[in-house]
Parts: sequence; C-alpha cells; structure tokens
Amino acid sequence: MEGFIENGLLIVGLGFMGGSLSKELKKKGFNKTIYGLDINPTAIEIGQNLGVIDKGFTEYEKVPWDEIDFVVLASPVGTFETIAKLLKGFVNGKTTVSDLGSTKRLVYKMEKIIGSNFVGAHPIAGTEKSGVIYSVDNLFEGKKVIITPTVDTDKYHLQRVENLWKFIGAKIEYMSPELHDFIFGVVSHLPHAVAFALVDTLRELSDKKVNLFEYPGAGFKDFTRIAASDPTMWRDIFFNNKDNLLKSLQVFKKSLEKLEELIREEKKEELKEYLGEISLLRRSLD
Ligand code: NAD
Repeated sequence: MEGFIENGLLIVGLGFMGGSLSKELKKKGFNKTIYGLDINPTAIEIGQNLGVIDKGFTEYEKVPWDEIDFVVLASPVGTFETIAKLLKGFVNGKTTVSDLGSTKRLVYKMEKIIGSNFVGAHPIAGTEKSGVIYSVDNLFEGKKVIITPTVDTDKYHLQRVENLWKFIGAKIEYMSPELHDFIFGVVSHLPHAVAFALVDTLRELSDKKVNLFEYPGAGFKDFTRIAASDPTMWRDIFFNNKDNLLKSLQVFKKSLEKLEELIREEKKEELKEYLGEISLLRRSLD
C-alpha cells in the first residue's frame, strides 16, 4: 500500500523524529528517495553516513524540487513559520506539506502561507533524546498519530498524509487543532513543565553542605526523565501552547495546595483516601 508519494520525500529538520520517520519508512519497504534538509551540516552528514536519508542538503536552492512531491517538517515548532515562507518559493499546490510538530494551532498560520496542501499531524511517540544519531526504525508502528484538518484542508492531501501513516502502521485519529492543543497541553506539556520545575527544586534546595543531585533514586529519575529533553524544542512548545499550559499549571497548583493542606492539617484518613483514588487512576493507565 503506497499511493502517497510518487516521486520523493523531503524531511525538513533531520533530528530524532525526522530520522526515525525516514528509518521506519525504509524498514517498511518504502522505495522512493528520501531527502533531508537541515540547517545543521552535521545532522546531514550523520544522516547520510548512517543511511538514514538518501541525500541531504543545508540549502533550499540545492534541493531537487522537481523530484519531491511530499514534504514533512520535523524541526522545532518555533521554526515552522520561517520554513513555510522559504518553502513557498519552491513547492506548488501539488506537493503535500505536513509536519510532526507537537502543537497544532500553528496549522492555521501554515495554511495561510503554504495553502490548503498543508496538513497538520502529530505522532504521539518520542523520547527525551534529540538528534538524528538517536533515531530508531520502530518508533511509530502501533502508535497514535493525531491529524488536525481544518475546513480548508484539501481532501487529496489529507488522504496522502493518512496513507503515509497507514503505510507505517500508525493508528490515525482526527481532531481539531484547538482540541489537540488542549489535550496535549494537559497530558504532555504540563508534565514536561513540572519535570523541569522538579529538577530546579533540587537545585534550589542544594547548598554547600549537601548536593541533592548525589541522591536521587529510581523514583526521581523516572519522574524527571523528560526534563532532559531539548530546551529549544520545549521552549517552542510552551510558547505555542501558552494559554492551555498556563491554565493547566493553575489547576496543578491547586492540586498541590490540596495535598499540602492534607499533610499540614494531618488529615490522615482524607489523605489516605485521596492518595488511594489517585493511585487507582494511575494504575488504570497501564
Ligand atoms: P531534534 O532536536 O532531534 O531535531 C530537530 C532538527 O531540526 C535538528 O536537526 C535541527 O538542526 C533542525 N532544525 C532546527 N531549525 C531548523 C530550521 N530552521 N530548518 C531546518 N532544520 C532545522 O528534535 P525532534 O525531537 O526530532 O523534534 C522534532 C519535531 O517533532 C518538533 O517539532 C517536536 O515538537 C516534534 N515532536 C517531538 C517528539 C519527541 O518526543 N522528540 C514527539 C512528537 C513530536
């Protein structure tokens, strides 16, 4: 099952996600050329040397645009607008342009610049590691991919994006960009913000007498793994979903206050009941 790319695919931003997309397509038998474009020459060099992509570029002018009919943006979301403006000079309405970005209301801006051939998508798979060197060939199969069409999205391009993810074996779900940003503001952006803040708390409480970073066990490490994520990527996500993230941080602060009160007031039974409810909810996730 192909029918989504006739000529070649270009991945703009050859990092962990873009590299993983290319590797998984190749593993599944995708037989068209995969090109990479990145502002970092090292990413292109590594991508080519490891065979992640067939050919890479650092300049738009050098890309063989005639051989490309599908473009996927896989750079930090803060770069999308600039990239869209650059792409506009090279791609026409026949080229499908999609992305892997973690925030989706940007889709409206992208549509304005690129046209109705832009289709927003967000694969719900990843890691705290960044860079093409860490890319893997089994990231997306069986995972959710949220596609966020708008009233203007062209049906033909939407179908091509759906076909790409079906080819990989991902589970497609459709939702509006607004609903996407609300949901992932709570289930992804909030925990990342909290993990960063938790590591900062250890820094704040460490002093000359005790360096708290010498003591964390599995619990702290599990909880804060995602705080080792790329700062540019997360700055961009936080800014692009500012309203939803700030609202969920307010609710999180209220939950902390509730916990604080139960501990301060030594409400033993209530605290046990509260922890029991939460523990059950968390276990239902596995
Ligand atoms: P990464 O840091 O591994 O890779 C990003 C790449 O983009 C780098 O190679 C960088 O040099 C390149 N880049 C930066 N600015 C550029 C520009 N202007 N033009 C071209 N290339 C540029 O990041 P990643 O983890 O692969 O994330 C990429 C995208 O995927 C982000 O939009 C992110 O929101 C989204 N995403 C990430 C995850 C995850 O877990 N890592 C999950 C889902 C979605």
